[in-house]
Amino acid sequence: MTDPIDRSTGDQDSSSEADSARSADSDQDTDADTETPPTSPPDLDDVVLDNLDTGSDGSDEASRGLFDDLLEGEPIFENKEVLRPSYTPHKLPHREEQINNMATILVTALRGDTPSNILIYGKTGTGKTASAKFVSEELETTSQKYEVPCEVEYINCEVTDTQYRVLAQLANKFIDKNTEVIDDRVAELDDLRSRAREDETALDGTEFTGVEGIDERIESLEEDKAGFEEVPMTGWPTDRVYSSFFDAVDYHERVVVIMLDEIDKLVEKSGDDTLYNLSRMNSELENSRVSIMGISNDLKFTDFLDPRVKSSLGEEEIVFPPYDANQLRDILQARSDVAFKGDALSDDVIPLCAAFAAQEHGDARRALDLLRTAGELAERGQTDQVEEAHVRQAQEKIELDRVVEVVRTLPTQSKIVLFAIILLEKNGVHSINTGEVFNIYKNLCEEIDADVLTQRRVTDLISELDMLGIVNAVVVSKGRYGRTKEISVSVPTEETEAVLLSDSRLGDIEDVQPFVQARFDN
Ligand code: ADP
Ligand code: MG
Repeated sequence: MTDPIDRSTGDQDSSSEADSARSADSDQDTDADTETPPTSPPDLDDVVLDNLDTGSDGSDEASRGLFDDLLEGEPIFENKEVLRPSYTPHKLPHREEQINNMATILVTALRGDTPSNILIYGKTGTGKTASAKFVSEELETTSQKYEVPCEVEYINCEVTDTQYRVLAQLANKFIDKNTEVIDDRVAELDDLRSRAREDETALDGTEFTGVEGIDERIESLEEDKAGFEEVPMTGWPTDRVYSSFFDAVDYHERVVVIMLDEIDKLVEKSGDDTLYNLSRMNSELENSRVSIMGISNDLKFTDFLDPRVKSSLGEEEIVFPPYDANQLRDILQARSDVAFKGDALSDDVIPLCAAFAAQEHGDARRALDLLRTAGELAERGQTDQVEEAHVRQAQEKIELDRVVEVVRTLPTQSKIVLFAIILLEKNGVHSINTGEVFNIYKNLCEEIDADVLTQRRVTDLISELDMLGIVNAVVVSKGRYGRTKEISVSVPTEETEAVLLSDSRLGDIEDVQPFVQARFDN
């Protein structure tokens, strides 16, 4: 099995895990807890007896099982997996043009020549990964059909983000493939040898004149195989990793397409050495040829590349524009036909999800998340139809999840600044200015023994919070008194405060009241 296919199944587990971890509170299992009837759950014996006793009228709430309520509603989903990010659809509406462009460039590989390198650009959720995986699966299937040696390797550079790791991963994949090729070949030769021992004419038309020739060939293949050495995930000098990779690729004739998804993350983290090395390989390879397909969310990432890498990598460029609301509708419609039961969606659900996601730079991932979450909310509410209201709730929930995630991962100093702003707002201070924030901030820092930054730095942190959409800081003119910033919190205060206090350092802050008072004393 080829790698892109492996990955997509691998992804399926890991990202659905990640997914459920992130939105654990929205998941069915957790649900069961919150939906438990207030009476204590029956113990096992009761349940069993209850089930046996068919005469029971079922009106006794205490005897109801943990899952009874949940099962009662009509099921909403037919196949929820289809709405998860890990699912690779086989039909990608509104990406025909991009897919055809890719195929037109890559078909060269099936003719045994090296395809141009391709750079794919587009914002998140515009279908780049899905389209690239689809094309790579088709390419490999066709290459098997026509028995042309062509392989695609997919690497997600957000996960594999250093030159060492990229090369090591590629080296090991090719070593595995070479081992497979050798094993197959040895099995064939073994078979031929047995037949030749019974009847010499079995060798007619082969390159061998006697059984000894076959023995030698098998021995030499086995030696090759014994010489392959897995690259460890750390520890080797990079040039050794590179030459392992190089030798593994060049072991036999083939065209190799290396897909580097989220390539901007690799360059951001580790520079462009990897791309430089990969893009120069072809002049040194003897048997094989390499072509690179880079996928980037960042339209400007090539600005950071060495000009030689830039021109080599960008031989062909394909842009994935954002989807508009109508296109998102089509995408959602196609998926929902498989994901939901017959009439589970009321008419306005898909248009509303599409409209919300179109505002979110035409992100199909967001559209699918909304639809799935709306379905889950409906399921939890035990209604048999997903309504417009569920979509609105889903939108709020996703937005809140995003805020929680952003706040949770803020650096400590930013958390203290944000906490100061929240305290002021909770105490009814309006038009909060930077000086006020700074005073509270300073007190909080002293309380938890954190370094106190300068007011200038704190102003910068406030601007960062503004850019993240957590606070809103507008510059207002105070006439001849100059200009000042008016700061307000633009996310739900209670939830945000709870996230801040769950940080072990901020959690130490007890009874914050005096600090707020301190502001007025100053
Ligand atoms: P990107 O890689 O550009 O960030 P993805 O390819 O991961 O975006 O797409 C995000 C989600 O939207 C995935 O679940 C994908 O299957 C889905 N998707 C994107 N474009 C389409 C499309 N044209 N048709 C069907 N599903 C799509
Ligand atoms: Mg992607």
